[in-house]
Amino acid sequence: METLLKKISESGLDASSVSGEKALTFWHHIHQHVATTPQEKAQALIISSEYQAQLKQGSACIEELRTALSLLMLPQDAELILEVRHCLADRLVDFGEYGLALHEYIASSTIAVNNSFIDDYVLSVLGMGNLCDAYGDHTRALRYYQKIDGIDHAISSRSLRLRYKLYMLACYIELNQIALAEDLIKECEELSILVSDKVLSGQIMLYQAKIYRLKGKIGEAIRCLGGVQFAAGNIHSDWLSNMIRLELGCCLSLVGKLHIASWVLESARKKIIGKGNPMLHLRLCNALGSTSEKLGDYKAALKYNKQAFQVESSQMKKIPISELGASQLRRLSRFELQLKLILSEIENRELKETTEHQKHTVAQLQKDVFTDPLTGLRNRRWLDVKLKELLNHDIPFAFLVIDIDHFKSINDELSHLVGDKAIMNVAHELSDYFQFEGASCVRFGGEEFLVILEQSDIHQAKEYAEQYRERIYLFDWPQILGERGLTVSIGITLHREGENTQRTFYRADKALYRAKANGRNQVCCE
Ligand code: GH3
Ligand code: MG
Ligand code: MG
Repeated sequence: METLLKKISESGLDASSVSGEKALTFWHHIHQHVATTPQEKAQALIISSEYQAQLKQGSACIEELRTALSLLMLPQDAELILEVRHCLADRLVDFGEYGLALHEYIASSTIAVNNSFIDDYVLSVLGMGNLCDAYGDHTRALRYYQKIDGIDHAISSRSLRLRYKLYMLACYIELNQIALAEDLIKECEELSILVSDKVLSGQIMLYQAKIYRLKGKIGEAIRCLGGVQFAAGNIHSDWLSNMIRLELGCCLSLVGKLHIASWVLESARKKIIGKGNPMLHLRLCNALGSTSEKLGDYKAALKYNKQAFQVESSQMKKIPISELGASQLRRLSRFELQLKLILSEIENRELKETTEHQKHTVAQLQKDVFTDPLTGLRNRRWLDVKLKELLNHDIPFAFLVIDIDHFKSINDELSHLVGDKAIMNVAHELSDYFQFEGASCVRFGGEEFLVILEQSDIHQAKEYAEQYRERIYLFDWPQILGERGLTVSIGITLHREGENTQRTFYRADKALYRAKANGRNQVCCE
């Protein structure tokens, strides 16, 4: 859709400035001259079909959507195909073409499962359940809605999850299953906090009022209905406001306020008649019939009952209830298994990714624990482990203690930051030079380093130390330290068999001390 909108604005047109008939012309122009790919043409057709629906051009709207569908191909356009089919099904329901709508739901459910689109699958199952509701078979509708229970957690749209629960709730209320309805309404209330949709919140209050009425708490029901906030304007809020009027009429009639009740229902009648929602029409006729009967106006009551019968039987004729029987439900059960498998695969993949991520994190932490952050060399913690390992395996080794000469003055004269840079360079030279097998470099503290040379004799160790000292002496220090240079002093000793490493340290320290005392920038052995 983004690319199409970009093309529209690039051709100097403004999609937001048109409405009604003008919007139709606009989107036909886009379809003919701006959209180039089949997908873009289909998108333009979806939008123009919405304007046609608003203008009550039913068959043109459906034709437009069918054309859009003919432009698209599976599997690459699965998402768009599902969008078109959902629109098509909605329009077909609006125009009472329930059989055709059911075929759209069936087709969408298959495409959705084959392409792992959970939300679209839920929409098609809800569509089928809605048809059963429209037929008046709420028990069967519930069976459809309950098909979603097993995959409920995988619905990505919260408002869709709320809508599916509300459909179930409406069924429980119709079937007088108050305890189940009360449990479910709590869930819906919690969900609605996150959804913040006025119509859906209003619907919850409407159902709460119905539950109160069923429990005989009419006063509370009326109060609840009074609290519903709804902004008029769209088809859903129109439905809600009419449902509220009908419920209010019903409650008022129950408490004997028959004249007010019939006045409220009359106002609902004006809004509902001619709007083409047979389910609302049926509810209205039933409500008007029972109020008229209570008022003693049997003639009117008979008239409304006849009307209700007509609406109901015409609905029943149009709804393909036989196609919504056991075999359809079995088909969905198979899909349910397939979807659960898909979901468990997704979960396993995520779990694997998480475990791998955790493994990586643990490895990283282990690395961090043993690494000096400034230089990237090993730290003292690592040294402790390493020394134990050497002792356990009786591996002979030489110890080199390396200390930067007059380092304090670098800090004092050139700042701590420059001091850090000097430490990093000494460390880098250290790891660069001692990178052969059996050599390990450690930042022992401040400006002091330690090198372990495994299987080394004192001469080898001295040679390495001497070369490293020279390397530091000759290093290009002026680029970091300006006029002054930098040197290191090194103390060496060999670990003696069976000796505690404290003693080895002590001797290496003594050697270092001698190197310092002898004038620094030199290597001493002990
Ligand atoms: P000598 O030649 O006797 O070793 O003299 P020195 O100045 O190098 O020795 P001394 O132990 O007196 O000073 C070490 C200084 O190193 C003191 C401390 O502030 C500094 N130092 C320790 N760790 C760091 C560090 O991570 N960064 C910086 N910039 N300075 C550090
Ligand atoms: Mg020093
Ligand atoms: Mg020191």
